[in-house]
Amino acid sequence: FAKEKGRNNGQVYDPAIHYNEREHQILLELKQAIKREEFTLYFQPLVTEGTFEVNKAETLLRWNSEQLGHVSPAEFIPVAEKYGLIVDITEWVICSAFQQLNEWDKAHYIIQSLSINISSVHFQYGDVSHMMEKLATQFDIDPTRIEIEITETSVMKNIDEAVQALHKLRALGFRVALDDFGTGLSSLNYLQQLPIDNLKIDRSFVQHIDQDNKKQVIVETIIRLAQHLGAEVTVEGVETKQEVDFLQASGCNYLQGYYFSKPLPVKELMDRYQAKGLV
Ligand code: C2E
Ligand code: CA
Ligand code: CA
Ligand code: CA
Repeated sequence: FAKEKGRNNGQVYDPAIHYNEREHQILLELKQAIKREEFTLYFQPLVTEGTFEVNKAETLLRWNSEQLGHVSPAEFIPVAEKYGLIVDITEWVICSAFQQLNEWDKAHYIIQSLSINISSVHFQYGDVSHMMEKLATQFDIDPTRIEIEITETSVMKNIDEAVQALHKLRALGFRVALDDFGTGLSSLNYLQQLPIDNLKIDRSFVQHIDQDNKKQVIVETIIRLAQHLGAEVTVEGVETKQEVDFLQASGCNYLQGYYFSKPLPVKELMDRYQAKGLV
């Protein structure tokens, strides 16, 4: 009797129900988001170690929902993954990113390569490589200019499918980056099986690295590991000059973070980084 009462009269506070309400709302609105043109892409520049040149950027999705306002990708991407909407969203992101790069090429803009986040859940739903190949041809983009970012955690959840899908993409010429590296507990055995062009060291290892000997050792070790794997290294979430100064001598290839620039909409990016390509 008590259970039934709790379920039906709506007076018992149940955080799970409230959570699901939000998820439900996000799901409903997300289904309309592409059609309503509520998505935009932001781009965060990556700078080369040493000379701080900008020739590469990470593509980051933004959603301004008519009903819900701005919703963070950290919140809506998991919902999209859970209900299969991720396939259409990823296709929108890839298509828009390629189109943007194509426009930049025509304008001789400084960005030569883009990285794009892809949820490895996507691999269960369909063949990403076919779609990417088709769109690359359509927008005249050489696949070697595109880096696919997959989080270490999601790869480890789904290792066999991920290994297969990433090899297929690699065979087409696309590059592969392992995102949030250091947080996903990958075994060295799996790392060996994955085709990796870039290891992106998670921000948690970078914060105050100049003052933290343990983080220094971890980052140095990851960089050495990457070199053995023949991969580049990007350090994410660089926020202070002290962090930059420390990382300059570390042997990483790219630095990314608020110290250099937040993710920017196209117009701001182009206002800020003109042809000279320097910060
Ligand atoms: P991520 O791929 O690890 O992206 C980096 C996140 O860190 C971005 O958050 C970026 O704005 C933020 N960031 C960059 N530099 C700094 C810094 O110096 N300090 C701090 N505190 N943060 C920094 P954002 O844009 O909110 O994205 C969150 C996550 O959502 C991304 O994490 C990625 O996993 C996911 N995401 C974003 N766009 C897409 C997409 O198009 N597709 C998929 N599947 N996932 C996406
Ligand atoms: Ca990323
Ligand atoms: Ca990351
Ligand atoms: Ca992340």
